[in-house]
Amino acid sequence: MQKSKCPVCGSDVVINDDAFEGDIVECAICNSISEIVSLNPATLNLVEEGPKGKEEE
Ligand SMILES: [Zn+2]
Repeated sequence: MQKSKCPVCGSDVVINDDAFEGDIVECAICNSISEIVSLNPATLNLVEEGPKGKEEE
């Protein structure tokens, strides 16, 4: 198991050993959705910010 940083809030996001590139992970802190773009090292690409990450537009 490894960890990566959430692109939105910078919190640790756990990446399971059986995860693949292209899998989607959700940050437990801000609920943002990210795609795993690389596993070595674990790199996340933001797909959609969670509701807590959105400010008034
Ligand atoms: Zn986050």
